[in-house]
Amino acid sequence: MAKRDYYEVLGVSKGASPEEIKKAYRKLAIQYHPDKNPDNPEAEEKFKEAAEAYEVLSNAEKRQRYDQFGHQGLGGNGGFGGGGMNMEDIFSQFGDIFGGGGFDSFFGGGRGGRRTKKGTNLRVKLKLNLKEIANGVEKKIKVKRQVLADGVTFKTCTTCQGSGQIKKVVNTMLGQMVSASTCHACGGNGQIVDKKPAEADGRGLILKEEIIPINIPAGVADGMQLSMSGKGNETAGGIPGDLLIVIEEIEDNVLQRDGNNVVYDLYISFIDAALGSQIEVPTIDGKVKIKVDPGTQSGKILRLKGKGIKDINGYHKGDQLIHVNVWVPKQLSKEEKQSLEALRNSDNFKPDPGSGEKSFFDKMKEFF
Ligand SMILES: [Zn+2]
Repeated sequence: MAKRDYYEVLGVSKGASPEEIKKAYRKLAIQYHPDKNPDNPEAEEKFKEAAEAYEVLSNAEKRQRYDQFGHQGLGGNGGFGGGGMNMEDIFSQFGDIFGGGGFDSFFGGGRGGRRTKKGTNLRVKLKLNLKEIANGVEKKIKVKRQVLADGVTFKTCTTCQGSGQIKKVVNTMLGQMVSASTCHACGGNGQIVDKKPAEADGRGLILKEEIIPINIPAGVADGMQLSMSGKGNETAGGIPGDLLIVIEEIEDNVLQRDGNNVVYDLYISFIDAALGSQIEVPTIDGKVKIKVDPGTQSGKILRLKGKGIKDINGYHKGDQLIHVNVWVPKQLSKEEKQSLEALRNSDNFKPDPGSGEKSFFDKMKEFF
């Protein structure tokens, strides 16, 4: 099923302010909340869809990436694409939206007021060559993640008795007030490590090397960040963080990237330029033969349609542009000089750019 536009999901305009986005989401979250719509898979879908849209549009960085690259910019197969956000993720947002516990009291509780703890994110760099970028590629990434050790058991936190919060009665001028803060002993999830293997740390975690496969969509660019949710560090009693993959583009020696186009500088002899020729040129997918017409001028740009890079949104493929340079010999033998001398005064060798030649600037306008 195609993903709906996030702005459309929340029913706001592209220019909506953060406050408008929050308000729109709050309305939908209440309307489709599972407690209000028991056993209604359609409402649950809507609830999740709205949460995912809000997750992206409420984050300036994610929103910008979404505006620029669409759903693909947020990690394609690795991101929310698979099963969407899980309920834990969604409820963990509510602290921000409804203000500490407000949501639960609205519905009479039942979901637990504490925020879900999330493991830290992992960030890795991934180098890709032009061919991998052009066609997309499946990569296996080696990461060291913190995971819960086998055999770790938990018990109720003795500091907060499992509530995850420490309540303090404070005397103020207005009388006694109760203040609640997150329990420092268990980090707010109400559980602490009971038994653990020797190699695990105090949180019951060990470092484990894992190979994680990821599908890189075609058309990514240097500096772009893809995210795989749940592939970061684990945390006891919470949800794992995310794995963030930062793309590094390896520059190609012969082909230059220009957006989704690929530019190649071709040098031909002036004999080939005058008489015409078949010449082999490199492309992303291997060598192809191109035809150079008789009378080809230096500076001409030839286009190989569809030989460029696939757009990250999958709508269109770039071209390869071949920039023709006519090579003038720097050294000549005595015989070569004589042959050319004989042609020096021939009318056909006199430059005559007026007859239908486009200037460099006209060509630029045409191609870019
Ligand atoms: Zn505690």
